[in-house]
Amino acid sequence: MNIAVIGAGVIGITTAYELAAMGHRVSVFERHGAAAEEGSFANTGIASAGYAAPWAHPGMIKHVLTHLWQRDTPLRISSPSMGDWKWLWQMRKACDNATFARNRTNILRLAEYSGHRMRTLTDTLNLEHERSQGLMVLLRSARDIERMQGSLQVMRDAGLSFKTLSDQEARVIEPALDPQALLAQAIHFPEDEVGNCRQFTLLLKSEAETLGVNFHFNASVLPLSKAQPNTIRTTEDQTGETFQAVVVCAGLASSQLLRPLGLRIPLAAVHGYVISAAVREPLDAPRSGVIDEQYKVAISRLGHRVRVSGGSEIGGNAKRHNPASIKTLYRVLDHWFPGAARTQDNVQVWKGARPMLPDGPPLVGASGVSGVWLNLGHGASGWALACGSARVLADSINGKSPDIDLQGLGLERLNLRR
Ligand SMILES: Cc1cc2nc3c(=O)[nH]c(=O)nc-3n(C[C@H](O)[C@H](O)[C@H](O)COP(=O)(O)OP(=O)(O)OC[C@H]3O[C@@H](n4cnc5c(N)ncnc54)[C@H](O)[C@@H]3O)c2cc1C
Repeated sequence: MNIAVIGAGVIGITTAYELAAMGHRVSVFERHGAAAEEGSFANTGIASAGYAAPWAHPGMIKHVLTHLWQRDTPLRISSPSMGDWKWLWQMRKACDNATFARNRTNILRLAEYSGHRMRTLTDTLNLEHERSQGLMVLLRSARDIERMQGSLQVMRDAGLSFKTLSDQEARVIEPALDPQALLAQAIHFPEDEVGNCRQFTLLLKSEAETLGVNFHFNASVLPLSKAQPNTIRTTEDQTGETFQAVVVCAGLASSQLLRPLGLRIPLAAVHGYVISAAVREPLDAPRSGVIDEQYKVAISRLGHRVRVSGGSEIGGNAKRHNPASIKTLYRVLDHWFPGAARTQDNVQVWKGARPMLPDGPPLVGASGVSGVWLNLGHGASGWALACGSARVLADSINGKSPDIDLQGLGLERLNLRR
């Protein structure tokens, strides 16, 4: 088949690769001059099945309300648009126990499959993407431990492997943890990984090119037209190029591209901050990834750099940085790994958007419009879910039954108005 993929983030590139590996003729259209320039640019790099959970969960509303006015709040809502309010309302409706459990199970199935597929691609193609093994969740207090129990039970029920560690045991795995920093307990996920999402995407792009994928950079695709949904146009006066299938992997911009087809995809930009700094002293730096559960801040080791991320903002200005959110990242890094990174100079500060659907799981599958397919809305877990989403979508386009059940990952769950 002759197939167009719109978007060259981690989702578009993995999709293009899988389709090309199955023998299709694939063209990728990307509005930037290179792959992974938007949401996939500098994310934390944690590929965790346990942490790929919907944000819409039973304690969410209480959590948002109690933290809203705090300086260190992990979630800020500022000048939300009507669309943001609508999205928040839809998220609220997905916070009940039954909906959460369903969405949690559906994401987990995809995340576990995705982890396997990522490891297979990495090993068979020899992709060097600053990988390290294991993720540890750091719990500062008895309150953190208590709050964590619900999530741990879900993970236990799902058969995920993790271990509860004492302070001493945790320091064997991450010896650079500051001895002064009190650790009530840690949860270790030995099968999770940290890796450089952008580097992986660029390496896989080269592999896709080797398989014959045609890349069109600096090509901003116009919204798909109802009359010719499989035709890609980048300027109004073009007749465009028609494909047998079009896969929309355009991150946040996907809703705009699909709107003329009558699909109103409720995607919100949930912004977060990431600082990346050179390792100052390797013995003082983390070996892999840790998450400070209280502040929802993640610290990861990517080769010679330490990356710290956190904060979630709905609404507000995408370009403007919130100094308090960035300060929290430095503070949490300094608390657990003082002296790990050179934070005085050459620190890369990135504000990125998580393309998030209100209930959590991404949309992977048919759009309901002949020849138009969806792989979008991966929210805070696009790196963890990319390889699996790409493979199941490619199988579906190929008419082959995917290796996992796609229940709950399709459009039907959102009850969209046409
Ligand atoms: C702060 C932060 C930390 C994160 N940490 C993690 C993490 O630790 N683990 C994890 O799993 N996930 C993480 N994520 C989430 C992850 O980064 C995203 O889910 C993922 O990158 C989304 O990939 P994507 O390909 O869908 O979107 P993008 O990477 O945004 O790609 C979409 C592409 O489509 C292109 N495009 C859009 N419109 C058009 C058009 N009209 N024509 C042509 N091209 C178009 C864009 O230019 C872009 O390149 C994090 C995100 C943030 C913001």
